[in-house]
Amino acid sequence: MNRSDLNNLRHSLEQLRAELDADLSAISPAMISGNLARDAADELVYQIQRDLQRVDAALERIDTGLYGYCVGCGEEIEMNQLRADPSTSFCLSCNSRVNRRASCK
Ligand SMILES: [Zn+2]
Repeated sequence: MNRSDLNNLRHSLEQLRAELDADLSAISPAMISGNLARDAADELVYQIQRDLQRVDAALERIDTGLYGYCVGCGEEIEMNQLRADPSTSFCLSCNSRVNRRASCK
């Protein structure tokens, strides 16, 4: 991965982080005004916080130079996959293994 690819992905991650932050701060007002049910709000907060964690972890991996490598097997993650989801931390084969395991629960 070259430096400009990395900068673009970092930029996408920072943008994503800002959007998630904005979503998070829009939830309380929506709940207070009655536009969002309590259960739905809880679910949304959970999802957004989980996404934020993924984004933060990816930004941290950029800083430590580990970004773009699968945390499962250490192989380089495909550029197409990173462009589609910059916060991804698994290569395609590890990702499908993780998803399979999750769906077996
Ligand atoms: Zn892998």
